[in-house]
Amino acid sequence: MTGPPPAASGRTLLVALAHPDDEVGTVAAIASQIARGDRVVLVWLTRGEATDAYGRIDPGEVAARRDAMAARVGRLLGVETRFLDFTDTGVIATRDASLSMARLIAEIKPDGVLTWGDAWVRGMRHPDHQATGRIVRDAITLARIRSCVEPLEPHREPAPIWTYRGLHSPLPAAAIDAEPYLDLIFGVADIYHQELQFPDRGWLEERLRRIGERWGCRWAEEFDAWETEGGLVQSLLPADPAGLGPHPERAATESPNSD
Ligand SMILES: [Zn+2]
Repeated sequence: MTGPPPAASGRTLLVALAHPDDEVGTVAAIASQIARGDRVVLVWLTRGEATDAYGRIDPGEVAARRDAMAARVGRLLGVETRFLDFTDTGVIATRDASLSMARLIAEIKPDGVLTWGDAWVRGMRHPDHQATGRIVRDAITLARIRSCVEPLEPHREPAPIWTYRGLHSPLPAAAIDAEPYLDLIFGVADIYHQELQFPDRGWLEERLRRIGERWGCRWAEEFDAWETEGGLVQSLLPADPAGLGPHPERAATESPNSD
């Protein structure tokens, strides 16, 4: 990637989603961090190998093609990319699943996390999405606990959560003006569309425009802000917790593993 190296005060945003292409609605959030000189790590739990976009070919071949697409997306956005080895359509929120994600969080040490939420509407309600949200949110807590992540150091710094906005969400919303990042948004969309015929450009434009109307800009992305004030922001990080106050750190003599 080009551009200045991350500043010493640079933040790290972890974007953890179920399938390659899930990030299409998060490109402005990602690009706005990169524009600040921050680090973004984009993690997919599966390779999306269950897609039928290729017809009946070997799942291993599908996975290889999606690996290649993901690498192109990573280069375009200037982010680090990772895959975990969950099975497409088989992501289940178990303790072991959250432990593996907790170890990743302890390694990456994010200042914020963007993932799936609890949305249950057509297009968003894939069981892998719901399970991914659960796994990642649980993992942020487990990553604080030494016995869950050793030999890695626990990650106890605040890592507020944002998720794809649910249609009927009662949570505050954080929105990002997408106009400066339209080329990147459609660049990512095109990489996927060439092979998967998704996402449709018209659909994506309409989505960005509809969200923008709510925020007084032409195009926008919008997320549920679980732990921050929300509002129209330049980037998700840095973020102030929404009046939550400092986390109650235990004294050295108190019982371990409190959270
Ligand atoms: Zn998906």
